[in-house]
Amino acid sequence: MTSASDQRSFAKSLFFGDIQEDMVFPYPALHPEKRARLDAILKSVDALAQKKIDPSKSDRDARLPEDVVAGIKELGLMGMQTPGEYGGLGLDVTSCARIMQELATFDPSVAVLLGAHQSIGMKALLLFGTEQQKSKYLPRLATGEHIAAFALTEATAGSDVQGMKATAVLNDDGSYTLNGDKIWITNGGLADVITVFAKLKCIKDGEEKERITAFIVEKSMGFKAGPPDEKMGQRGTNTTSIHLANVRVPAANVLGEPGSGFKIAMEVLNNGRLGLASSCVGVARYALKLAVDHAQGRKQFGRKIGEFGMIQQKIAEIVLGIYAMESIAYLTTGMVDRGVKDFSVESSICKAYNTEMLWSIVNHALQVASGEGYMKEHPYERLVRDARLNMIFEGTNEIQRMFIALSGMQGPGQRLANLARAFKHPIGEVGMIYDYVAAKVSHTINADRLTLSDPHLKDEAEGFEEGVKALAATAEATLRKYGKLVIDEQFFQKRVAEITMNLYVQVACIARATAQIRALGAEEAEAEVLVCRAVCRNGRDNVKQLLEACKHNDDDEIKKIVAFAYESGGYFLPAGLIAADEI
Ligand SMILES: Cc1cc2nc3c(=O)[nH]c(=O)nc-3n(C[C@H](O)[C@H](O)[C@H](O)COP(=O)(O)OP(=O)(O)OC[C@H]3O[C@@H](n4cnc5c(N)ncnc54)[C@H](O)[C@@H]3O)c2cc1C
Repeated sequence: MTSASDQRSFAKSLFFGDIQEDMVFPYPALHPEKRARLDAILKSVDALAQKKIDPSKSDRDARLPEDVVAGIKELGLMGMQTPGEYGGLGLDVTSCARIMQELATFDPSVAVLLGAHQSIGMKALLLFGTEQQKSKYLPRLATGEHIAAFALTEATAGSDVQGMKATAVLNDDGSYTLNGDKIWITNGGLADVITVFAKLKCIKDGEEKERITAFIVEKSMGFKAGPPDEKMGQRGTNTTSIHLANVRVPAANVLGEPGSGFKIAMEVLNNGRLGLASSCVGVARYALKLAVDHAQGRKQFGRKIGEFGMIQQKIAEIVLGIYAMESIAYLTTGMVDRGVKDFSVESSICKAYNTEMLWSIVNHALQVASGEGYMKEHPYERLVRDARLNMIFEGTNEIQRMFIALSGMQGPGQRLANLARAFKHPIGEVGMIYDYVAAKVSHTINADRLTLSDPHLKDEAEGFEEGVKALAATAEATLRKYGKLVIDEQFFQKRVAEITMNLYVQVACIARATAQIRALGAEEAEAEVLVCRAVCRNGRDNVKQLLEACKHNDDDEIKKIVAFAYESGGYFLPAGLIAADEI
C-alpha cells in the first residue's frame, strides 16, 4: 500500500519500465461507511434529477432553472469537497467524482456548473488558501450562497497561459489593483467570488520579473461580467467574459505566494480534470441506454436493427469504452484518496481518454439512431454538441498529450543527461554508470511484471508488461535521438502519450477485473473478464501500431503536405473534376 507521503507517480514510472503495482493493486474500493453515505446522496441526486432536471429545456433556454440550482444547494453538493469544519460535506475525491458522474447522466451542464464552482472555482482556496481565507470564503461557497468561478483564459492566453495580459499592481497600502479582460469564464455571470490570475511584478533572484499571481476577487470589489456567450453545447451553463477595471483587491486576498499563480492554476486544473473524466462516464452510460433501447426497438428489413453486426459492433464499442473510462477514472480518484501526491499524468490521461471516448460513444449512439438521432426532439444531437466542449476546456487534449509525453520523458531524460555528464567524468561518477548499466541489464533479463493480477488475466498482464518494456525503450530511443529537442517533436509526443494512455487503461481494467474475480469468483465475474479482455486486446493492438509508427512513419511527408496547404492558403491540388479536353 502507498503511504500518505507517497511521491511516486505510477504513470511516470512506466517510462523507466517500472511497474509499481502496489499503486494500482488492489483496485480501490470505498469503505462501507463511505459507500453507504455516497449511496444515500446518489439517491437524493436521482430524486432531484427525476423531478427537476430537464436537459432539453436548459439547452433551449441556455440556462439552468433556478429550482435545479436550489436543489443542488439543498443537497449540500456545492460544498461536497469542502471539509466539514467549513460547512461542507467533506467527501473524498472518489465520492465527489461519482456524484459528478450521476449529475452528468441527467444533464452535463449541471455537472459543469458544479465543476466550475468547486473543482476549479474554489479549488485554489481549498488547496492554497490560508486559514483566514478559508474561514472567510468557504462557508458561504459550501452552501452555495456564493458561487465561484475560475478566470485564467484571455484572448491572448488560451493554451499558453503565459500570454496573459491582465495585470496586478501593488499599491502603497499593500493592496493590489487589477486590470484586464478574461474570456469564456464558466459561471462568470453567476459568480460572487472568482479566482483571478494576473501578472504581477515580483522580485525573483534579485531581478524584477512579471509573474502570474492568483487572487480571490469578490463581486463587491468591482469585476463585471459580460452577457452570456452563445454556445454550441453545454448551453445550460453560464459562460461570460469578466472585466477587471481598476479592481482593488486587499493584500489578504493573494492566494499562495505572489508569483506562484502558474503553479496554482496547473494544480487546480489537475484536480478538476478528474471530475470532468467521471462526468463523461455518466453521459456515456446514458448514451448506451439510448442506443440499446433503439437497437432493440427499431425494425428494418423485418429485423431489429440490433441484430445487425454493424450495430452490434457499435454497442460493444460503447460498452468497452465505458468500462475503460470508469476503470481509469476511479483508479485515479482512489490513488488521490490514498494520498498519492503526483497524479498529474494520470489525471491528464483520464481527461484526454475519457473526453475522446465519450465523443466516439455519442457519435456511435447517434449513428444507431440515425435520422432520429439528428432531430432536435431526441437527445442524441445535444449529447454530441455537449460532448464537444470536453476536448477543449480544462486544457485541450493536444496539451494533455504534450504534458503526458513530456512529463513522462522528463525522468528518463534527466537520467540520460546525468549519465552523459557522468561519462565525461567516469572516474568520479562510476557509481552512477554502474547503477544505470545494472538497471538496464536487470530490466532486459528480468523486466518488471504484474504479479498481483489474477491468473485468468495472464495474457492481458503479459500484453501490458510487453507494452511497458517497449514504452521505456521508445522513450529512451526518442530521447537519445532528439535530446532536448524532443520538446518540438510532437508527432512522437502524440504517439508516446497514446501508448501511455493505452497502457494505463489496460492496467486499470486488469486491476479492476482482478478485484471482481477475487470478490465473486471467476465464474460469477465472467462478464467482467470478457469485457476486460476485449479492452486489453484493443489496447495491446493500439500500442503495437503506435510502436510500429514510432519506427516507420510518414511524418516527413505529412509535414510537406501541411507546408503546401499553408503556402497556398488551403487546398493546393488542381480541381478534382478534370475537363474532358484535359484528358
Ligand atoms: C465553454 C467554455 C468554457 C470555458 N470555461 C473556462 C473557465 O471557466 N475558466 C477559464 O479560465 N477558461 C475557460 N475556458 C477556456 C478554455 O480553457 C480554453 O478555450 C482552452 O484552454 C484552449 O484555449 P483556446 O481556446 O484559446 O485555444 P488555443 O490555445 O488557441 O488552441 C487552439 C488549438 O491549438 C492547439 N495548440 C495550442 N498550443 C499548442 C501546442 N503547444 N501544441 C500543440 N497544439 C497546440 C490547441 O490544442 C487547439 O487545438 C472555457 C472555454 C470554453 C469554450
